[in-house]
Amino acid sequence: MTQRVVPLSDYRNRSTVRVPDRHIEPRGILNDRLQRSLRDLRISVTDRCNFRCIYCMPRDVFDQDYAFAPQAALLSFEEITRLARLFAAHGVRKIRLTGGEPLLRKNIERLIAMLAAIQLPDGSPLDLTLTTNGSLLERKAAALKDAGLTRVTVSLDALDDAVFRRMNDADFSVAAVLAGLDEASRVGLGPIKVNMVVKRGLNDQEIVPMARHFRGSGHILRFIEYMDVGNSNGWRLDEVVPSSEVVARINALAPIVPIEHNYEGEVAQRWRYADGSGELGMISSVTQAFCGSCTRARLSTEGNLYTCLFATAATDFRAPLRSGASDALLSNLIAAVWSDRSDRYSEVRGAQTEGRAKVEMSYIGG
Ligand code: SF4
Repeated sequence: MTQRVVPLSDYRNRSTVRVPDRHIEPRGILNDRLQRSLRDLRISVTDRCNFRCIYCMPRDVFDQDYAFAPQAALLSFEEITRLARLFAAHGVRKIRLTGGEPLLRKNIERLIAMLAAIQLPDGSPLDLTLTTNGSLLERKAAALKDAGLTRVTVSLDALDDAVFRRMNDADFSVAAVLAGLDEASRVGLGPIKVNMVVKRGLNDQEIVPMARHFRGSGHILRFIEYMDVGNSNGWRLDEVVPSSEVVARINALAPIVPIEHNYEGEVAQRWRYADGSGELGMISSVTQAFCGSCTRARLSTEGNLYTCLFATAATDFRAPLRSGASDALLSNLIAAVWSDRSDRYSEVRGAQTEGRAKVEMSYIGG
């Protein structure tokens, strides 16, 4: 097949993508070089956040001088929806809105309504979800549900208010997040997943109180190993609390047993309390990498497409979007990027990846 290089000059993370001359008809399934299908699209709708979590947006880096993307640089709702429709034709079944904090994007409900109207090729509905720090959820949950959001995931790193405030470094209380969670549950955005990033010496003493609090609540508490995302969190391996240790600590509270995945490519290992009082998840990104089943693409606020959370380069979709590219060209670009993908950062973490400049998590939404 002949190939031509599409010059995409106006982007932050320069990369060169070879796009086939002929049109690749979307068939609802697109595999990368390691035979992983494109199934999930995470879309960051803002790079701003009202928290300054020390593992994600440390205040000394993301201070008042930090240059966030200007409004004109962000993909518009129309641009996001157009791309989402093309991704769905290539097999994406789940779209997760992220940030920064996605609820800070003005009129986010309008975007959700536009995405919810997308028809999948087989007629099944798009799974449309969102990850939030919960601070604005109490106010917005009903409108999000009305707009067509399917579910919500809430980040909460501690139940102890002092620990939580220290971690978010913006003086937000646990009570505000729990109120948002309750409201999301009340309006039907459940079952809600609650994500807790565990960092040794900072909040690992909160593992058992969090488990105790959410046991029997119907919410699914998920423990995430602290990761070396971005370049600004000063990650050290000895600060990672392995999932095996989290399991042992919870087992001492109440016995838990592993259960089957819900679907291929699910990142969390599922556990349930032996007495039937609820489900838990372990996301072992460091100690048990799951690159082999990674089906996620990530679209940044400014329209850069990343094929790995730890990517160093991306492909710009905003430039072609804004210079009159046809759906066929954009669709081919998606196919070209995904079929060329071979990322497996977590599996090869170490000597091979040391010192490499990665994209910040707040830019592509974790
Ligand atoms: S390291 Fe990259 S390829 Fe591996 S699971 Fe994470 S995002 Fe996917």
